[in-house]
Amino acid sequence: MERLDLDLIDGLFDYDTDPANVMDEFRRIKGLRFDGSACATCSNNCCIVNEGEIPRGFPQPEIDTIVAVHPEFADVYASKRWRIGKNGRRYYVAAKRGPCVFLGEDRRCRVYDVRPLSCRVVPATEYWMRGHDEMDGWLDDCPGSSYTHPIVALNDGDAASAALLAFLHNKKRAIVSLFVDRGLPDAAAKRAAALALTRHYGGEFYEERLPFAAGGPVLAALAVAYCDAYGVPALGLPWRSERKAIRALTKGLRLSSRLWLDDGLALDVLAPFAGKGERAMLKLGRKLGAPYDLVA
Ligand code: SF4
Ligand code: SF4
Repeated sequence: MERLDLDLIDGLFDYDTDPANVMDEFRRIKGLRFDGSACATCSNNCCIVNEGEIPRGFPQPEIDTIVAVHPEFADVYASKRWRIGKNGRRYYVAAKRGPCVFLGEDRRCRVYDVRPLSCRVVPATEYWMRGHDEMDGWLDDCPGSSYTHPIVALNDGDAASAALLAFLHNKKRAIVSLFVDRGLPDAAAKRAAALALTRHYGGEFYEERLPFAAGGPVLAALAVAYCDAYGVPALGLPWRSERKAIRALTKGLRLSSRLWLDDGLALDVLAPFAGKGERAMLKLGRKLGAPYDLVA
């Protein structure tokens, strides 16, 4: 696992990548913001690896550059922290748990002038590597990072939708509900419930009408088109059992929960209940305060 993650960083950015371009790409993801001035008063959370986080590893050419400029670190070559990535390159694990070896006691990077590329593009690194689902921890840890854009939630006015909205609300995401009228007999009641749930969370409500009783994959495709049109990088699915739709959506995934649309937009799919039984889903929703009394 560790090896794969190290390769991942390398696969995302090559040595010639200009950090300015990476940050431009990061800013292109609507809703993600980074205020670099926060770094001045931050305790460098990005230079410390906590329990459960991905180790921080740097490819050998970056270490060579560091040592060339800061020969006092030449002993890194004798360290047991070197690993071989799947790509055959050597990586130096600068932080497995705890602070990076280059972080000084004053919490300042001692090789800042030649710090590796993945450090220069923080926080974009974390987003690209770990995807939206995993970004929450980063948002908590990095006072300079924030996410303001809403998530499009497929909202069918049922208990699963209520639980999904509670889940998203708990993650401090602004909510945009998309209700799809498929011409079913209970469509009016479900629409009213979907609207009530959306209002409960102060979200925006949109609706679409299909001329036929579409299944999950069609609904998902419609929701993806919505996300694409609005430039929203995340989609919330309330389904527990529609594995087919979720699989269809996540086919061609490049990273954990990320779907790359044709125009280059990265869309993350949040399906917190996929594979869970109804009881587990309801329990989680209840824990998060889902307003089950409003569902159809
Ligand atoms: S955690 Fe965020 S705010 Fe703190 S130093 Fe790192 S990038 Fe800057
Ligand atoms: S090299 Fe410097 S900027 Fe990068 S993680 Fe280590 S201390 Fe932080």
